[in-house]
Amino acid sequence: MPKRDLILLALDESHVLKLMERALRAVNYETAIAGDTKSLSRILQESSPALLLVGEQFSGHDGLDIVAELLERFPTLPFLIYTEKVRPELVSKIFKLGITGYLAPPLRTDDIVGTVEGMLKHAYRVGDWLRREVNRTTTSLKKRAKISENERSRLETIINSIHDNVMILDKDNHIILLNPAMCRSFGLNEKTSIGKVVSEVIDHPDLHAMLAGSRDNDPLHHYEISFPDGKVGSAQITDIPEIGYAVTMRDITYLKEGDRIRTEVVHTVSHDLRSPLTSVVGYTELISRAGSLNDDQREFLKRIQEGVEHITTLIDDLLDLGSIEAGLDTRREWVKMDGILRYSMEMLQGQIKSKHIKVETDISETLPSVRANPVRLRQLLDNVIGNAIKYSNSKGEVKISLQAEDDQVILQVTDNGPGIPAQDQAHIFDKFYRGKNMDKQEGSGLGLAIVKSIVDAHQGRIWVESIVGQGSSFFIVLPINSHPTK
Ligand code: ADP
Repeated sequence: MPKRDLILLALDESHVLKLMERALRAVNYETAIAGDTKSLSRILQESSPALLLVGEQFSGHDGLDIVAELLERFPTLPFLIYTEKVRPELVSKIFKLGITGYLAPPLRTDDIVGTVEGMLKHAYRVGDWLRREVNRTTTSLKKRAKISENERSRLETIINSIHDNVMILDKDNHIILLNPAMCRSFGLNEKTSIGKVVSEVIDHPDLHAMLAGSRDNDPLHHYEISFPDGKVGSAQITDIPEIGYAVTMRDITYLKEGDRIRTEVVHTVSHDLRSPLTSVVGYTELISRAGSLNDDQREFLKRIQEGVEHITTLIDDLLDLGSIEAGLDTRREWVKMDGILRYSMEMLQGQIKSKHIKVETDISETLPSVRANPVRLRQLLDNVIGNAIKYSNSKGEVKISLQAEDDQVILQVTDNGPGIPAQDQAHIFDKFYRGKNMDKQEGSGLGLAIVKSIVDAHQGRIWVESIVGQGSSFFIVLPINSHPTK
């Protein structure tokens, strides 16, 4: 039978080498001899031997070291070690390398051929097993791929039938998946959009701002996306580990419309209430002029006037808030905030004196003018400084600072009053919100809502830093050159 397998011999020149060569050739193996490590490497590269027989010592090197190195490059090649003397530590080293065969004197032709044949058979069996394993794994992978393909199409059907807008992006903002609702909202073609970077196919400033913003995965963090046809969406961005992000958006146009109608009703009602109230104020003033009053009557009249004054302030606040929020605040002129601050302080002098508050001001000498609505800025200062005084204890301290930085003016109002609990801080700028512990002080909860809407209308920012028992600092940053929002 023809045996054409090539056995490579890496043995130093000796009678053993000759004996091996002869024995193998006699049973039709091809043999090749490597003279040194260099030629060993070359022969391995050029021909593919079926087995490599290495001497324990070869060309001045440790044969086991050579095998260890070659195993890295040819992991499936069967190796045989030839040693002149079998020692337990050597055998354990051979086995540790994962080699199962060695030859040692006394050598007989049969032993040599028998061992080589046994090694090759084993190698073929391992080869067969390997092929079978590869086959099995591939089939199971194919099966798995089929399952995940089914899952994918199931998921796609679900996402496609959702009314909300859904878009999945990878970490670099490439679109992986889009549902029809999303395509309709942004006028996209699903087929041509998949795989593209989102900014290439969607040209919407609100969406870009959202993608550029922080992805804090706060489930309550929604972004409003406005469309030219008046539609408004509430969008959210969620992290999907190892994939990227999911952008979901829900149409909230109907909610916005409800909000608008509510605001309009409040505005109309406040407006309609204001005129009869003006008559009430007028007539109460006339009563005292119409004739003399006794003490009780004067007291009752005073109470009526205070009550009416309170309602008038509330209605004025509501009307202000309504018109600022509706974008009607379009007056802009260059104003000096330090000048407005002076008027505000004059108005608050009575309260400052009666509560013995120490007020310190720190105003930059080079404070630039800001382009703003002076009436609204006055309202802003009255409210923030008014609160600092109102909520301070008697003999409290209030510090007011006006500084310029870059193209902005920064107002800071600090008091050493009661402070604002952390859970209240997130809500104090909401309409009608009053701190839980503030019922001793009069107020409607509209002051800071008005301040916030003024700041927003001037493209500014407002925030509070406060520690209960130590005091509060309100910060307002206004751009020097703001423009009307609408
Ligand atoms: P109002 O003063 O009419 O209650 P605001 O909108 O001006 O309404 O303020 C809302 C809430 O914020 C107040 O009820 C109070 O709890 C809190 N607050 C505002 N300013 C201060 C301050 N300087 N110190 C402590 N609490 C404050």
